[in-house]
Amino acid sequence: DIRVDSVSKRYGKHVVLDDINFRIKSGEVVAIIGPSGSGKSTLLRCINYLEPPNSGIIAVGDLQMDCEARPANTDLDRLRRTVGMVFQSFNLFPHLTVLRNVSLAQERVLKRPRKEADERSMELLRRVGLADKSEQYPSRCSGGQQQRIAIARALALDPKAMLFDEPTSALDPELGLEVLTVMRELAETGMTMIVVTHEMRFAENVSDRVIVMADGRIIEHGESAAIMRSPQTARTQQFLHAVR
Ligand code: ATP
Ligand code: MG
Repeated sequence: DIRVDSVSKRYGKHVVLDDINFRIKSGEVVAIIGPSGSGKSTLLRCINYLEPPNSGIIAVGDLQMDCEARPANTDLDRLRRTVGMVFQSFNLFPHLTVLRNVSLAQERVLKRPRKEADERSMELLRRVGLADKSEQYPSRCSGGQQQRIAIARALALDPKAMLFDEPTSALDPELGLEVLTVMRELAETGMTMIVVTHEMRFAENVSDRVIVMADGRIIEHGESAAIMRSPQTARTQQFLHAVR
């Protein structure tokens, strides 16, 4: 489970997250939608402490972080291993082969022997449909392929949950579809996922619940079909109208 309790985040005087509360059960897929600047990326970055929140509690499984205390490094390492993250930009290492991109962190972080890491990497590359690219360099792969490699790399650390920040928005629709298919399959395996997305069809058809953010707050939160078909707030209606 992931629990976000009264989490707030400021940059100077600018309140970017204002008392955010929600829980996600293990195996649930939650989509976060909302206008630009509403705090979606900041929220994801706070959940795995790429940005430390100013106050509140972030709990993942039995690991609980009180945001007003300074986190122990061992807790931070555990948190980031438990919660994988995929960004809009793929951030692959250009000088490493696809296989090395996926296996490197397994050796460094999990201390997995090279052979085992490579085997696990091949298994994940097969799963995202890219086993034949293992010896290529990322520059020889399409954007959609690079993003699928980034997903395989995140999965290689055996996370319990995955955060995605607009994983398809840098891609042409067709390439985005390849990535969405991989994400849908991942959801079907029971992975706990939080997905910031502009893909309203993903929000409606793949996610179990939708969280709508505006101005650093959650303005609506509920079962996907209900929110997407009959949003309750004028702000959500307006947003959905603008993006569809
Ligand atoms: P988008 O849909 O455009 O990605 P978002 O919902 O992800 O938007 P955030 O990137 O979380 O929004 O930004 C929320 C607010 O926080 C914005 O007003 C942004 O300018 C501000 N912000 C984000 N990061 C920083 C930072 N490092 N320093 C100062 N302000 C920041
Ligand atoms: Mg963002």
